[in-house]
Amino acid sequence: SPVLCWLRRDLRLSDHATLSRAQQCGPVLAVFVFDPALLTGLPANDKRVAFICAALDEIRTRLRALGSELVVSYGDPQQQLPCIAQDCGARQLFFARDYEPMALARDAAITQILETQGVTVEAVKDQVVFEQDELLSKAGQPYTVFTPYARAWRAQLTPASYAAWPVKLESRYFAARDSLPAQWRGDEKPIAVPGFANANLAALTIQTGERGARALLQDFATRIARYGELRDYPARKGVSYLSAHLRFGTVSIRELVRLALEDGSAGAMVWLNELIWREFYQQWLWHFPEAEQTSFKPAYRNLVWPGEDSHFDAWCAGQTGYPLVDAAMRQLKLSGYMHNRLRMVAASFLVKDLLIDWQRGERYFASQLLDYDMAANCGGWQWAASTGCDAQPWFRIFNPVTQSQKFDADGHFIRRYVPELAVLDNKAIHAPWLAKTLPETFLLGRDYPAPIVEHASQREKALALFGR
Ligand code: FAD
Repeated sequence: SPVLCWLRRDLRLSDHATLSRAQQCGPVLAVFVFDPALLTGLPANDKRVAFICAALDEIRTRLRALGSELVVSYGDPQQQLPCIAQDCGARQLFFARDYEPMALARDAAITQILETQGVTVEAVKDQVVFEQDELLSKAGQPYTVFTPYARAWRAQLTPASYAAWPVKLESRYFAARDSLPAQWRGDEKPIAVPGFANANLAALTIQTGERGARALLQDFATRIARYGELRDYPARKGVSYLSAHLRFGTVSIRELVRLALEDGSAGAMVWLNELIWREFYQQWLWHFPEAEQTSFKPAYRNLVWPGEDSHFDAWCAGQTGYPLVDAAMRQLKLSGYMHNRLRMVAASFLVKDLLIDWQRGERYFASQLLDYDMAANCGGWQWAASTGCDAQPWFRIFNPVTQSQKFDADGHFIRRYVPELAVLDNKAIHAPWLAKTLPETFLLGRDYPAPIVEHASQREKALALFGR
C-alpha cells in the first residue's frame, strides 16, 4: 500500500526529509491539500496561491513522468486526508513539522483522527536545521537574544545537520497513478484553486517552483561573496531573493547552508547569519506562540497608540510624503517583495513616526508579502517596534530621510517605484519639502504629497510613548 507524503511548506523533490523517510517505507503517494480555512479572505489574484499552484504543477509533471501522481484536493485536511488514505489504502502518512500555533493544533488533530483510523503518522524535521528544544541555553531555556543563539547554533552544527535527504526519482519508489481510484487522479489542466485568478507572476518576473529556486540560487552563488557589502542597498542586486522559496520549501534550507559553508567567504558567513535569524525567530515563535498576537515585552502590551487611520491608509498606499518609505510600500504592493532594509525603515516609520500599533503593520505585510512567514514577520515587526525579543532599543528611531540618503544615495530605488519624483535631483529626492528649488514642472502637494507628519516632532512623541 502507498505511503502518503503530505506536502505543505516543502514543495520540491530534492533534499526532502519527508519524501526520503517515506520512501524507506514503501512507494510514495504525494498529496497536497488546499485548505479553505487558509484561503478565505485572500484576494482572487493572491500571488501566494499562484506561486503554490506553479510549484505543484512542476511537481505533478515530474511525478507523472515517473508514472505516479500528485494528489491535489480542496477542503479541510481533517476530512480530506482520512478520505485519501482510505480510498488509496494507505497505512502510513508523513509530513514535515510546521511550528506555527495554528498548524501545530491542526496537525495534532489530524494525527489523532488518522491514528484512530489505523494510519500511522510521522512528523519529520525539514524546514529548519535545529528545531524546538534542540538548541537551548545552558540553563535549559529558549534563547531570546540572537548572538548567543547564533553562537550555539554554529557550535552544534555538524555535517549531519545539513546533509541532504536524498529522494530516489525512480518509478518504483512512487505509487503508480494507474493504481489510484479515479477521483484522485488529477486531470490535464494546470492546477488552480476555484475562485482564484492567475496572479501572472511571470509578468512580475517572479521565478517559481524548484526550477525557479535553482535559477536564483545559481545566480546568487556568483554574488554571495559580496553579500555583506551590498545587502543593505535596495537598488543593488545584493541579496538572494530566495525568501519565498524558503517559505514554500521550493529550496531546502540544508542546501543553502551547504552553499554558504562551501563558499566560505566573509559574505557567505554574513548570509549564513541571516539564515540563523530565520531559525531564531522560528524557535522563538514555537516557544512563545503568544508573540503572534501580542508584544513579547509585557511592558508594551497596553500602549495606547495615538496614530490616525488616514495615516495608516497613506502608509499602505505609499503616499506618506517620505520618498523612501513610499517607494518601499509601493514595491511591496506591486511585487509582493520588500528589501530587508526597507522593511525595517517602513516598519519603524509606521510605529515610531505614525505612532500606529505594529500589529496593524504586521497584518498588512502578511496580506501582501509573497514570502510571508509568521515567525519572521512577527519577529521583524517586533524588532522594529522595540517590543520583541532582542529588538531595536525603543529610543533608537530611524530617520527616514537619513536612511534614504545613506542606502539609496542616488535615488535609484525611489525613482523606480515613485516615478513622479524622477525629475528631482539626487539631493531633493530624499526630502523634496526641504529643497530650495524644485523643477518648474514639479509641485509638491500636487504631484507628490507633502509629508503627512513631521519626523522630529513625531520622534519626540514616540520617545514619550515608549519611555513613559
Ligand atoms: P537574504 O538577505 O538573501 O537572506 C536569506 C534568507 O534569510 C531570507 O530569504 C530569509 O529566509 C532569511 N532572513 C533574512 N533576514 C531575516 C530576518 N531578519 N529574519 C528572519 N529571516 C531572515 N522574512 C520572511 O521570510 N518573511 C516575512 O514575512 C518577513 N517579514 C519581515 C518583516 C519585517 C518588519 C522585517 C524587518 C523583516 C522581515 N523579514 C521577513 C526578514 C527579511 O526582511 C526577509 O527575509 C528578506 O528581506 C528576504 O529577502 P532575501 O530572500 O533576498 O533575503
